Amino acid sequence: MSKVIDGKAFAEKVRGEVSKQVDWLKSNHSITPGLAVVLVGEDPASQVYVRNKGKQTVEVGMNSYEHKLDTSVSEAELLALIDKLNNDDSVHGILVQLPLPDHIQEAAVIDAIDYRKDVDGFHLTNVGLLNTGGEGVVPCTPLGCIMMLKDRLGSLSGKNAVVVGRSNIVGKPMAALLLKESCTVTIAHSRTQDLAGVCKEADILVAAVGRPEMIPGDWVKPGAAVIDVGINRIERDGKNKLVGDVDYASCEAVAGAITPVPGGVGPMTIACLLHNTVQQAARQKGVELPA
Ligand code: NDP
Repeated sequence: MSKVIDGKAFAEKVRGEVSKQVDWLKSNHSITPGLAVVLVGEDPASQVYVRNKGKQTVEVGMNSYEHKLDTSVSEAELLALIDKLNNDDSVHGILVQLPLPDHIQEAAVIDAIDYRKDVDGFHLTNVGLLNTGGEGVVPCTPLGCIMMLKDRLGSLSGKNAVVVGRSNIVGKPMAALLLKESCTVTIAHSRTQDLAGVCKEADILVAAVGRPEMIPGDWVKPGAAVIDVGINRIERDGKNKLVGDVDYASCEAVAGAITPVPGGVGPMTIACLLHNTVQQAARQKGVELPA
């Protein structure tokens, strides 16, 4: 088996499963899941993400609703739109593309989304459910990582897992998911002492830092599974290049399994968004999806 975990192929498999679940909801319960994506402003990267999300939502048979608002929109106007979407029965998932302009408080907006329609897993109720073992929605990027790890390694129970990065959207939920799988979890961050030594203990090493190629192969335990969440644009040999947070060549030589950048964690994020949307649609209607 190749060491490389092919996120593109895995994402295609997840989308195939979602598509079947959507068909099942349509045929058996007359529900067509709908995902509303709200974009504020003209940020080019966000526009690309939103376009891709909309395209893939439609491809799996769901309805996609895009709401594009001007950068000058007030927080009150945005909250009014969220209230409308919360009360719209054709909308089962609501995603507000981050970052938002400075005059709008992200926390207030995320918290205004009905947690049953939250598909990012950022609402405090879903954060609480994840950390107390409840049935909530899990942030898309860490969900994609845990799916790939379980697929490759089977049971994760008892493994030493190190997550480098403690953000609310990646590092912390990743650590919570690994703990749920009965790993022994260490969260490292910018103040961690002897980061190399900490990483070297990991059977599972997740890098979510945002620093190009920061982790070299000699920080990796031989045979470890390395999940590289980082997406960094760099210039090399006069060309723009996308690299992760691990130095791929030296880590790949030591690791037992590794996700590449691009083509690893990235493609799984939107697939997991679609997964979350169909799950939320089923939960809202009180029906259990077929496995
Ligand atoms: P944040 O900037 O929010 O968090 C980065 C974390 O890395 C912080 O906890 C920070 O520590 C830690 N850190 C920074 N420098 C060091 C260092 N020298 N040593 C150890 N830890 C350090 O980033 P995100 O979590 O949002 O994203 C991380 C990466 O993942 C980025 O490259 C981002 O682009 C990518 N990403 C990819 C996604 C995908 O779909 N594949 C989705 C989301 C993010 P401290 O808290 O102490 O400051």
